Amino acid sequence: MKKQARPYWLDVPLLLGRRERPPEGHICIIGSGLSGVSAAYWLLEKGYEDLVLVDTAPEEAATFRNCGHILYGTVESMQALVALHGAEVAKDLWNLSIHVCHEVRETIARLGLQVDYRQDGYLVIAIDEAEDKEIKQSIAYLKSFGFESSYVDQEKLETLGFRQTYGGRFEAGSAQAHPVKFRNGLLQHCLDRGLTYRSGVKVTAVEEKGDKVIVSSEGWGDISYEAAIIAANAYSPLLSRFFAAHRLVEPFRGQIITSKPLRHALPVTYPHSFDHGYEYALRTEDNRLMIGGWRNHTPHGEVGTYDLTPNPEVERGLRAFVDRHYQLKEKIEWEYSWAGIMAASKTGFPFIGPTDSPRVFTVAGYTGHGFSWAHGSAKILADIINGDPIPSIVAEVCKPLR
Ligand SMILES: Cc1cc2nc3c(=O)[nH]c(=O)nc-3n(C[C@H](O)[C@H](O)[C@H](O)COP(=O)(O)OP(=O)(O)OC[C@H]3O[C@@H](n4cnc5c(N)ncnc54)[C@H](O)[C@@H]3O)c2cc1C
Repeated sequence: MKKQARPYWLDVPLLLGRRERPPEGHICIIGSGLSGVSAAYWLLEKGYEDLVLVDTAPEEAATFRNCGHILYGTVESMQALVALHGAEVAKDLWNLSIHVCHEVRETIARLGLQVDYRQDGYLVIAIDEAEDKEIKQSIAYLKSFGFESSYVDQEKLETLGFRQTYGGRFEAGSAQAHPVKFRNGLLQHCLDRGLTYRSGVKVTAVEEKGDKVIVSSEGWGDISYEAAIIAANAYSPLLSRFFAAHRLVEPFRGQIITSKPLRHALPVTYPHSFDHGYEYALRTEDNRLMIGGWRNHTPHGEVGTYDLTPNPEVERGLRAFVDRHYQLKEKIEWEYSWAGIMAASKTGFPFIGPTDSPRVFTVAGYTGHGFSWAHGSAKILADIINGDPIPSIVAEVCKPLR
């Protein structure tokens, strides 16, 4: 059977906007992935009206091509965070990461969204001795800062269906959800509250002119707003001179394969990753193994591309990785294989706030951890726009302008 280049998640149809010229309005939000829809949601919560959301080729967005992990922490281990930023900043960042995960959980509960949300933990698995040491060191830091974290030894990992591993770090608070269901549910809620949404609007520039922001797009010309939010993550440099000039984000291609439903239930029920997070995996609700990564084994790390064609070398690497590290009771058959474009942040932190223009804002740059960070960062952006206080760690590290 031919594998689908379409993400597994997109078997749930995407909620799309009408393909017509967007009206003028108060704030134009560019991007209908997790960042853009969340920005609309949090602004509506604050009483903002007359919001216009636009996108182009929405099915290509990373939001629908990810692995569904909602993780405590950042892309760096606690040991690396402490080494890079010092203990105080590392602790504050970890707290913030927990906070943004809980924002997702609370939004789901508040709106009663049916999004296959499960909060039963996350396992970081070492596949060599050096990583095992780093995991132990990270756990020691986490515990000393008062966070919950525990070591899982090799024997226990074998009972969870793994092999050829060292130990692991378990975080009980991390979660998973269906990204399309979450974004659709949140978007439908916003539409019910008056959000205007237009699909097929390819924005080419966002510029402040006088007391307006002009959003220029292919086919629809220039449209004027009081303010705009660039929520296009990896695509931001293609429509924003500010992003391009400062090289705030670098696009890179992530790739995922997903099996047919397995007859024997995978013993591990929660999100997990290996090799410093370079491989990441999930058991889906219908008992498929979803696994992504392997880009670090390619010559250029899949950096600098917007091409969504899966790389066969990465696909082969992922399959071999599964053969090596999972004990499966059956021959696995792969059904889906797709790619998506993420944004590596220049600073390692998301960019939240005004750009070089006080009426043009952004929320972007999650370096592979966007599910929780996009939703939580968009809330912080709404606070900034509304003049409300924000956590001091955000003011310190997440400013687009320094
Ligand atoms: C393979 C892969 C696996 C991942 N796994 C995880 C994971 O397990 N957990 C996790 O937390 N994160 C993960 N991520 C990262 C996460 O998916 C992203 O950080 C997050 O979805 C970014 O959301 P966003 O809304 O900012 O950007 P996107 O979802 O990329 O959305 C960008 C939006 O901008 C719009 N746009 C772009 N250009 C234009 C234009 N010119 N005009 C108008 N609109 C435009 C697009 O239509 C789209 O709506 C993964 C990403 C990938 C690719």
